[in-house]
Amino acid sequence: MMIIMPRNRAGAMVPISLQQSLHRKPQAIVGAFLAVMMACVLGLVGWKVSVSRQSTLDRAEADLLNLARSLSQHASNTIKTPDVAMAGMVDLLKFQNPLPERFNAYLQDATRAMPQIQFFAVLNSDGSWRYSSVTSLRSHNNADRPYFAYHRDNPGSELLISGPAESRLTGRQVIILSKRISSPAGGFAGVLVGTIECEFFNAFYSGFSVGTEGGISLLLKDGTVLARWPVQTALRKLTDNLSFEKRVNESVAGFEIVTSPFDGVRKYLGFEQGSEYPVVVTVARSEHQVLEHWRRDLASDALIAGLLVAGVVGMAALLNAQFRFRTKLEQFLREREARVRLLTDNIADIVVVMNGEGCLRYVSPSVAAVLGMDENAFLGRSCLEMVHEEDRYKIVAASRRLKEVGVCPSVQFRMRRADGETIWLECRFRVAEYSPGQDLEVVGVLREITEQKKLEDELSSANLKLTQLAATDGLTRLANRRSFDAFLRDAFVKHSQISVLLIDIDHFKGFNDALGHQAGDGCLKQIAQIIGSATINTKSLSARYGGEEFAVVLPGVSEDKAVRVAEAIRSLVSRLNIYHPRSPRKRVTISIGVAETSATTIDEFALTRDADIALYRAKERGRDCTIAASSLVSEGLEIASLIPSIADVEQAS
Ligand code: GH3
Ligand code: MG
Ligand code: MG
Repeated sequence: MMIIMPRNRAGAMVPISLQQSLHRKPQAIVGAFLAVMMACVLGLVGWKVSVSRQSTLDRAEADLLNLARSLSQHASNTIKTPDVAMAGMVDLLKFQNPLPERFNAYLQDATRAMPQIQFFAVLNSDGSWRYSSVTSLRSHNNADRPYFAYHRDNPGSELLISGPAESRLTGRQVIILSKRISSPAGGFAGVLVGTIECEFFNAFYSGFSVGTEGGISLLLKDGTVLARWPVQTALRKLTDNLSFEKRVNESVAGFEIVTSPFDGVRKYLGFEQGSEYPVVVTVARSEHQVLEHWRRDLASDALIAGLLVAGVVGMAALLNAQFRFRTKLEQFLREREARVRLLTDNIADIVVVMNGEGCLRYVSPSVAAVLGMDENAFLGRSCLEMVHEEDRYKIVAASRRLKEVGVCPSVQFRMRRADGETIWLECRFRVAEYSPGQDLEVVGVLREITEQKKLEDELSSANLKLTQLAATDGLTRLANRRSFDAFLRDAFVKHSQISVLLIDIDHFKGFNDALGHQAGDGCLKQIAQIIGSATINTKSLSARYGGEEFAVVLPGVSEDKAVRVAEAIRSLVSRLNIYHPRSPRKRVTISIGVAETSATTIDEFALTRDADIALYRAKERGRDCTIAASSLVSEGLEIASLIPSIADVEQAS
């Protein structure tokens, strides 16, 4: 492959293949295409024109030679007949002296028999007329004629063809056939003459079509023009007869391109000599007319070539436009790809593309910064391989959701970095636009959320703490009153059987007054710890009800069992043996009221109220005891009847 070495910006040589070079310069391809196609079209047309011209010339040559041969034969035949007749006459006249009337009649018969002959005549040795086929004898003498001098001076008996000359009888141009008449002793006894009008040949030649600029000539071998069609009288002999003589001496027949001596026109010429006589027939056609048909074809060929060239130029223009469009499109795509690459290379997020089976086809280079691994380490692998085992189900679930139209599921999962550290990532999946028949592609944008996750965890634990704080009593760490209310409300809905303990420290005012509030707080904490331990790891709740009062909610627990719990608590508090200077028992004690839901308990407030009444009863009975609400009923005391007295007590206090 050809290599071109341009220089880059730094001046270094950069090898570029010819293909790349052409790709960058599509005009070069179009130019080359145009040049090749033009060369093909023009070459083809040129070749056809050349072949057609040669074929036309070959055909013209053959036609001209054929015609020359025919006309040469015609000329020989035209001369042969009178030649034979004249030979007989010469023999007769050599030995006899026929009567003028009889021989004249004979000559007349011979003339009639040979239409080409104008007349026959016999001249005496002095040039005077002896016999003639013409009826009236002429008195003029023909001794001045060149043929007469020739025969007088040459003893040969051959036929002499001369002329053309103007006939002294008719005034027309004639070709003269003459023979010497010798005496028996061999002396000159006169000349036998026969004339053929030039018009005879002209009339015959006029029947052949050789074009308006063509011509047919009958010549003597020395170049003397005997006859010519179209009639032309100015030229009697070829001006360049030497070369003509030379040419006809070289060959009997031939074909040449000549400039006509008659009209100066360039012509194609065929010639052939007579077989027995020194005559030559030439047939000429002008080059212009010979090539007329060819020229007409040339015009149509040129038109076709023009159309083809126009077609090729049009195709080249289309090709060029197509190349330009493609170049622009490629540039646009390159720029867009560069922009996308710039984005994916520089954003902190990781962009991945995978097929429908989750096989990774593209991973943006930003993965190196996040996971410490090269993007190539991921290509061709399943996305699940990278995900923490415990989080893989999330990806599987998200991939199912992707099948729903318009859904872009977001998943948070863990992955292991190259250094072994586990980090949190969030990925938003989306099905890429695709046409039917194309493979499904899923695009995922991943972002590290480890810090965010940490903050979220801290926040939720802080929230949990806040929630716990909101639900807990600050001094005793037991659930506060609000938690108690909510718990009891919930338990009342969920359980048909609930028992409630209301616990009150006895004479606590006196404790504070005697030992101080701090000691009172310490006492509250100690008692709260005992009450709390009673419900630890159970479904029950221990709460600070308010002041020095506590409550325990026991869902699903009967009053009997609740009383046992209450007694256990009371016993443990008593066993703490906290010194109480103003209590009759000299130690801190508690009183407990217990109540259980019954058919008549309409709500949780009623249940608390029953426990409170029972507590009030315990206080009345001397404190440091547990009273069950049901025992009050069995004592014949309707709880409801106690409510006014409670109100009275409250009013009194
Ligand atoms: P009784 O045996 O009838 O219950 O008498 P009592 O003195 O305990 O009842 P009273 O209602 O008269 O007094 C309650 C006292 O509890 C008043 C208050 O000083 C004390 N108290 C309430 N809350 C706290 C607290 O958070 N800390 C301390 N140190 N004392 C508290
Ligand atoms: Mg109280
Ligand atoms: Mg009290």
